[in-house]
Amino acid sequence: MSAKIIDGKAIAAQIRSELTERISELKRKGITPRLAAVLVGDDPASAVYVGTKKKTADAMGMASEVIERPARTSFAELETLIRELNARKDLHGYIVQSPLPDHLDEAALVDLIDPAKDIDGFHPENVGAMTLGFPRFLPCTPAGIVELLVRSGIKIPGTETVILGRGNIVGRPMSILLSLKSPKGDSTVTLCHSRTRDLAAHCRRADILILAMGRPESVTGDMIKPGATVIDVGINRVDDSSTPKGYRLVGDAHFPSVSEVAGAITPVPGGVGPMTVAMLMSNTVMAAEAQTSRP
Ligand code: NAP
Repeated sequence: MSAKIIDGKAIAAQIRSELTERISELKRKGITPRLAAVLVGDDPASAVYVGTKKKTADAMGMASEVIERPARTSFAELETLIRELNARKDLHGYIVQSPLPDHLDEAALVDLIDPAKDIDGFHPENVGAMTLGFPRFLPCTPAGIVELLVRSGIKIPGTETVILGRGNIVGRPMSILLSLKSPKGDSTVTLCHSRTRDLAAHCRRADILILAMGRPESVTGDMIKPGATVIDVGINRVDDSSTPKGYRLVGDAHFPSVSEVAGAITPVPGGVGPMTVAMLMSNTVMAAEAQTSRP
């Protein structure tokens, strides 16, 4: 293996430790940053993600809560809950964990979240501000990837970035951030999707290749430009009877072959995932600071 492993766990720990002074400062003023996660239904992966977010917030001295609702919850019931959360003075930010059950219109629910409490950065107002280059809350996974690159000493300006996947949570906002006129952007970005012709040819041009399709081990070493940086966002469960759980997690990259050719690569797990959580904590602290500095 030739690629350097980008240690998302270590960089996320560094970001969390930088936040502790800001949390202490808020606490000196009598304010404990508080976040909530709304969890609808019983998707096991969502329960794990929400649990990790809560545990991380608690360990950092913030307050947190998980608000669970059954899968049959109606849109109107969630609307009432969201309006309550918007009105609560003690709650600085919250997320509605995705995916939601099929009968719920996720976009319409996100639209109801107070943009000042939208710590996932999914509200159209926050997406618009990001797109125009005046960011407030950035979506956690793309923002975490920018931090991973910058803190790993990987130059972004002037590079060719290719992103596989145009989802609203990862690929599309990632394309916006990296193409902004900014020292953490200024990349020339190609956004690929399921209708892209010759994905491999695009991949081979990439100085920075970001994988966000959710297709296990589908990107192989022969698709990589030698020395490229590969950021693997995919989290996929594949059956593995040799593990106690009967499955293991893999990314969208075929790690053994890609790491032979790439210059740097994020592992799965331990790459992008911890950064997503760290950026959620960062957005919560920012929300608490902004709300408590208002006259
Ligand atoms: P998504 O919204 O479903 O988007 C998937 C994208 O991949 C779509 O744009 C789709 O194209 C594209 N795609 C699918 N098959 C393709 C193919 N054969 N060739 C080219 N493009 C293809 O998914 P997401 O929410 O962005 O998540 C993507 C992955 O990232 C998942 O594995 C998810 O678990 C993971 N994830 C990880 C984190 C983290 O913190 N590490 C956070 C969020 C998501 P179309 O648009 O044409 O359908």
